[in-house]
Amino acid sequence: CGIFGIWGHEDAAQLSYYGLHALQHRGQEGAGIVTKDDKGLHVVKGEGLVNDVFTGDAFNSLTGNCAIGQVRYTTAEGRGAENVQPLVFRSTTGSMAIAHNGNLVNAKDLKESLERQGSIFQTTSDTEVLAHLIKRSSSGSLTQRDRVKKALSMLKGAFAFVVLTEEGLMVAQDPNGLRPLSLGKLGDSWVVSSETCAFDLIGAEPIRSVAPGELIIINDKGLVSDRFAEAANPAMCSMEYVYFSRPDSDIDGINIHMARKRCGKQLAREVKIEADVVTGVPDSSISAAIGFSEESGIPYELGLIKNRYVGRTFIQPTQSMRERGVKMKLSPVHQVVAGKRVVMVDDSIVRGTTSKRIVKMLKDAGATEVHVVIGAPPLVSPCFYGVDISTDSELIATGRTVDEVRDLIGADSLTFLSAEGMLKAIGRPDEMKNCGQCLACFTGEYPTDIYADTVLPHEK
Ligand code: 5GP
Ligand code: SF4
Ligand code: MG
Repeated sequence: CGIFGIWGHEDAAQLSYYGLHALQHRGQEGAGIVTKDDKGLHVVKGEGLVNDVFTGDAFNSLTGNCAIGQVRYTTAEGRGAENVQPLVFRSTTGSMAIAHNGNLVNAKDLKESLERQGSIFQTTSDTEVLAHLIKRSSSGSLTQRDRVKKALSMLKGAFAFVVLTEEGLMVAQDPNGLRPLSLGKLGDSWVVSSETCAFDLIGAEPIRSVAPGELIIINDKGLVSDRFAEAANPAMCSMEYVYFSRPDSDIDGINIHMARKRCGKQLAREVKIEADVVTGVPDSSISAAIGFSEESGIPYELGLIKNRYVGRTFIQPTQSMRERGVKMKLSPVHQVVAGKRVVMVDDSIVRGTTSKRIVKMLKDAGATEVHVVIGAPPLVSPCFYGVDISTDSELIATGRTVDEVRDLIGADSLTFLSAEGMLKAIGRPDEMKNCGQCLACFTGEYPTDIYADTVLPHEK
């Protein structure tokens, strides 16, 4: 998912719309904006793309100078209109709206215990747990900030939150900092966004990343930084660099396009291939393909083009839709590949659908050899943190050798980037464990506890 927040701007709703538009690649199943003024919270949300949800009059009702928003990509919580965020909770003791990016690994435990205490959940979303925890702890003399801190400290897993309350905009990042979240400034207003590309679009200046374990409270008095937990080992999601984020975004000061390009260069150092052209799979692997070409000296060519009116194939819910999606989405440029030995660079292999189809497509278009190089290590373990790499059985590389995967996708050779090579190429500080990255889907070593009852996206 992608989340966005803004405090203290007369065009809060409009700017959130632009922000969500820039984050659209992070989720296409639903979108929502909640604004706040002295009359309370106002919400517009629905299933579909940002452009479809916020039509004509939407903005007339979204009054107020602060807002939060989300674009939705379903993993664990299930689809359906009631799960579109921000979730709004109206109460006589203070209303609240919440948007979340990530996945809680102890949501089931917390939900069961809250239900035993009388909570009734309106959605199947793990996000709702936070609202109940905040309300639960509302007894006694705790300030709202303390209640939120207490609630956040009970959550385990990956979470970047924006919470809009009567008292301000609250922004939180999980203790491992698994999902990106940046703070920026637009004139006198504060903005937060999953990715910095949203800041560029609205003309805001990026200030810094929200720190692991940090709770930021923004209101008319200004910004206060607090923390609800000690920072754990930093573990930024590697797949954000590899695939998820937009090339023009920066995470912790590292530009995504440049990081991918260095991954491509690193690949060209790790494998030598005799070939005539290098081509990338648009859009997410173009950067790595350019890097591979530069380092190997094999010319980069536009061997595949993308129909821009088809969404991200991976995010299509079923496998048959995904397969048709690949065909509608990509076409070979015959003049580039016919009679050529082609290096095809992709960012990652998940189920193998894309690679298999493209190898065949390139061969049908006359390529004499197709060498597949991948800008990440093999994905072998499920993600519990909000990326739809769900079960081992769906991952083509789980329990298979590289040669077996190569044969399944029909390539002449297959090379994955080494994990060390990827870390080095991305270039985060190397004094931290795994350079402060999560590598769990590549290694099976998870940065948080994984609860026995953690529900995999797939199982719901
Ligand atoms: P596959 O076709 O192997 O199942 O998926 C790999 C392709 O899907 C790559 O081209 C990659 O760009 C894209 N992709 C889309 N969504 C995701 C995702 O959530 N994770 C990963 N690793 N790749 C994804
Ligand atoms: Fe990202 Fe993989 Fe870690 Fe999930 S397991 S957070 S996809 S690096
Ligand atoms: Mg792709």
